[in-house]
Amino acid sequence: MIVLNEFYIGGDWQAPDSSQTMPILTPSTGAQVGQVTLGNAQDVDRAVAAAQAAFVSYSMTTKDTRLALLHRLAEVMQARMEDLAQAITTEMGAPITMSREVQAASGFGHLEAFIATLEAHQEEEALTNGDIVSHEPIGVCGLITPWNWPINQIALKVIPALAAGCTCVLKPSEHTPLSAQLFAEMIHEAGFPPGVFNLVFGDGPSVGAALSRHKDVAMMSFTGSTRAGSAVSRDAAETIKRVALELGGKSPNVIFADADLEARVTEGVRECFDNTGQSCNAPTRMLVERSVYDRALDIARSAAAAQAVGDPHQEGDHIGPLFDQLQYDRVQRMIQIGMDEGTPLLIGGLGRPEDLPAELAQGWFARPTIFFDVTPEMTLWREEIFGPVLVMTPFDTEAEAIALANDTDYGLDAYISTGDEARALRMARALRAGGIHINGRATDYGSPFGGFKQSGNGREGGRFGLEDFLEVKVRPPFSA
Ligand code: NAD
Repeated sequence: MIVLNEFYIGGDWQAPDSSQTMPILTPSTGAQVGQVTLGNAQDVDRAVAAAQAAFVSYSMTTKDTRLALLHRLAEVMQARMEDLAQAITTEMGAPITMSREVQAASGFGHLEAFIATLEAHQEEEALTNGDIVSHEPIGVCGLITPWNWPINQIALKVIPALAAGCTCVLKPSEHTPLSAQLFAEMIHEAGFPPGVFNLVFGDGPSVGAALSRHKDVAMMSFTGSTRAGSAVSRDAAETIKRVALELGGKSPNVIFADADLEARVTEGVRECFDNTGQSCNAPTRMLVERSVYDRALDIARSAAAAQAVGDPHQEGDHIGPLFDQLQYDRVQRMIQIGMDEGTPLLIGGLGRPEDLPAELAQGWFARPTIFFDVTPEMTLWREEIFGPVLVMTPFDTEAEAIALANDTDYGLDAYISTGDEARALRMARALRAGGIHINGRATDYGSPFGGFKQSGNGREGGRFGLEDFLEVKVRPPFSA
């Protein structure tokens, strides 16, 4: 059994003030694989004090010093990719192939993109009026991350904070402490000065809220649910912190009749189910032009029927379990609500997949599910489900597709499939979302990621992600 009972504070592994513990459960069987100590406000105080002390010298380091530390971190991370992938599969159930090729790899991808960003970054610039603007680290940052893309989210926050010259306290999801522990070990091995990075395990209402309220924290960067994001904003308001939020989504996938229907519908279904539907930017609402809607339903049904579900410890392109009992119950509840509201079911439904092996019978596996003819009044249209559940609906015109796609409180990503470039560009302009995918092509590491509306504010990744952690200072040119 893995016991995580120390926090990384001031460059050392320290005993927590709190003695509250929580089991670490593995989603494929529900078995306990470890235990983590959850911190309290005193632990946060200690970590923030260490970060504040370290800020004095770290904020004055040169860009070259920070680049050398990040290059060293890249070497260390590369050597531990397999450990990271195994940890992610154990703690949140992503299939091992995906953990290696996407989940763990994303941490490294973001790190490389931030190194390139920092190399190109101008720390000072002259304005046309002769004044000089410098971009300086904002201060001590509180970083709160979710369980669904654990290393991706840690990398998107910790790396730009450290690249900018900030110091930080990370509170990862209490459900995914294994990958966070490895990340802290990597930071230590890379030789970052003590106190620059600190790790406190804990839950949202205690450690998360203590960080958000802390008077010595200058900025909160939060990724998670819209509910918790507004709690962080409220807690941070008293001390006028900067707050960056990456929240939920209900992303539309608009497919026109002139697209490669077989490929785009099949891929849309797979993308919705990827990571067992537990991605904030998953294309969960598929809108299909009416002239090809019936064919699209057939293709989608076949794609869902072909979607293998199985043991995350085995290699392959199947999907794994949902990450815990709460998430399993929530997905079941949403499917039940869909059925109660009379939403037509295309495939899937309540319960576990029928062909699961006996040893996985207690795992939190859900059935790949598709509802169709879903309309905007229905719960399944509006609410983020966070499971392998797709909703489909027809549209008649481009204007109707835009209105339907934008009929959501969220605005994270939007997906467009059409053979007509001019239409793709019109749609890209009209859709109210932070990221656009066109004919299956997404953007790359180093591009900004984030949402409109209740999907959040601020952007992560590359230049925009670095700028989130910088303050602007202006001075006149020197004259004696
Ligand atoms: P969650 O909001 O329950 O938890 C996220 C983090 O917030 C955890 O570390 C949790 O401990 C903490 N937290 C909870 N309540 C808090 C509070 N009151 N104050 C401070 N911190 C608090 O979300 P989750 O279930 O871990 O993750 C799933 C959600 O995250 C989904 O809504 C998903 O869409 C969203 N998400 C968004 C992005 C993005 O980039 N937009 C990426 C991944 C996940």
